[in-house]
Amino acid sequence: MFPVFASSGRKTLSNVQQRTTLPSESSIDDQRVRHVRIAILGSGFSGLGMAIRLKQQGQEDFVVIERASDIGGTWRDNTYPGCACDIPSHLYSFSFALNPHWSRSYSPQREIWDYLRHCAERFGILPHIQWNSELLEASWNEDDQCWHITTTQGQLIADILILGNGPLSEPSLPPIPGIERFEGVLFHSARWNHDYDLTGKRVAVIGAGASAIQFVPQIQPRVGHLSLFQRTPPWILPRHDHPIPSWQRAMFRILPITQRFVRTRIYWRNELTALGLVYRSSIIEKGMQLARRHLAEQVPDPELRAKLTPHYVMGCKRILLSDDFYPALTQPNVEVITNRIREVRANSIVTEDGREHEIDTIICGTGFHVTDTQLPQYVHGHGGRSLADVWRAGSCAYFGTTVAGFPNLFFLIGPNTGLGHNSMVFMIESQITYILDCLRTMKRRNVRAVEVRPKIQEAFNTEMQQRMKRTVWASGCVSWYLDANGRNTTLWPGFTFEFRRRTHHFDPQHYDLLPQQAPAHVGKTERRTSV
Ligand SMILES: Cc1cc2nc3c(=O)[nH]c(=O)nc-3n(C[C@H](O)[C@H](O)[C@H](O)COP(=O)(O)OP(=O)(O)OC[C@H]3O[C@@H](n4cnc5c(N)ncnc54)[C@H](O)[C@@H]3O)c2cc1C
Repeated sequence: MFPVFASSGRKTLSNVQQRTTLPSESSIDDQRVRHVRIAILGSGFSGLGMAIRLKQQGQEDFVVIERASDIGGTWRDNTYPGCACDIPSHLYSFSFALNPHWSRSYSPQREIWDYLRHCAERFGILPHIQWNSELLEASWNEDDQCWHITTTQGQLIADILILGNGPLSEPSLPPIPGIERFEGVLFHSARWNHDYDLTGKRVAVIGAGASAIQFVPQIQPRVGHLSLFQRTPPWILPRHDHPIPSWQRAMFRILPITQRFVRTRIYWRNELTALGLVYRSSIIEKGMQLARRHLAEQVPDPELRAKLTPHYVMGCKRILLSDDFYPALTQPNVEVITNRIREVRANSIVTEDGREHEIDTIICGTGFHVTDTQLPQYVHGHGGRSLADVWRAGSCAYFGTTVAGFPNLFFLIGPNTGLGHNSMVFMIESQITYILDCLRTMKRRNVRAVEVRPKIQEAFNTEMQQRMKRTVWASGCVSWYLDANGRNTTLWPGFTFEFRRRTHHFDPQHYDLLPQQAPAHVGKTERRTSV
């Protein structure tokens, strides 16, 4: 039984791969296919935020393509017990839609999901969403200079395509020999099986990352036995989560400026962490001392403590926050196993020391496909070249937003925009501002298409990789921030205010601009102008 990805996009994409002719390879009948100004992929923080800001600018001609039947992305899909944000909610929300009602400093998944649904409703985005519609293929058409898009709901033509498909939306299963032969129940934390009762079961949790440290304390009291298979112990700091008192919520509602003040304070406190991560300041050493003390206070047993003590520089992998993970591991029904898994059998897991662990259930807290997602295979730019092909040596995009060879294509949370220390919503909003400014420029200059100049993108990418060398992420650990070539194509190597400053204006000098009135039969090089 292997029900993990029953609803994921992977199967559908690979089905498409087997077709002999993709619908968009044959000519799309422009008369019948819907043509929109802008198509946005995804309805998480990225897609939804983009849609709201477009609407606020008076743009109505856009569609949001969403493979699920509800909005929310991460916060719709991750329903595991204990799921919550790890950036305080006052900051982990849209700047243009503060929520005075957060119940806790780190709100639970359901509240964040409800918040996003509320935003979609409040700003009138729901009628723009094409539900149950998975993007299968998108190709830049040289004749009409538009994106021709194929989804599971049919075809679409868009002048502009904005990809907000999420950096953490494709769950990753560990490639352990025999896992497909497991006869018990197996699921990924991002596809939690709520129909399955864990009470009294022998449960194996694979992974000790951001999700596992949240759900392990929730399930530990219920299960018969919990075996935590941990490869590398994470650095864990105290979380100090607390309910937000009703008087404070009332204050935030009546005087929104007070919530803005709290939000700003959280932002700058988090931003300080970048000093340690990017510039390797003594902040990291202080953080490690704090984390060691936290571990010592919560885990009295020296043997268990040794297993849980990290041996790499803090921050090289994501720093985690928890007050209840360590206490759960000290319970008599829990064992932390650090021997590597050799194989999975029908009803057990065998570790490299030859020990066989009998189990009923495997829960994979093994993260997501980040640098190896499938979508780039299905996005084609000039000359039909796929993004996967262009990114073969490693993904890169100018400000994580535009790629040479792919006109009028924009990414939200593209390469090198992830963070190890602050709110992703801040980065998303910075990119949205950049895209909006680009759209305004296009209108003002009567431009049909924009495409970042290869040299500009190359210089930017060189800068990213140079700066990355002195960061803590290059200190030698293996992490999901790195791609198959060992390059960090995931994170922004600096302060987020620098990213905001640099994306505040769209600079047309960095782009080739294609004028609106270009006749369709003229070759693409002839039609381009530079400003
Ligand atoms: C458990 C968890 C906790 C997190 N906590 C934090 C936190 O505290 N702070 C923080 O800053 N970040 C956090 N993150 C990172 C989080 O992913 C981002 O903050 C943010 O939610 C990403 O939003 P998004 O819209 O870009 O992507 P997602 O939320 O992943 O949304 C992408 C959307 O695109 C859709 N989609 C994808 N592919 C296709 C396709 N081919 N066709 C159609 N639709 C498609 C998906 O269905 C989904 O709705 C967390 C991530 C996880 C997994």
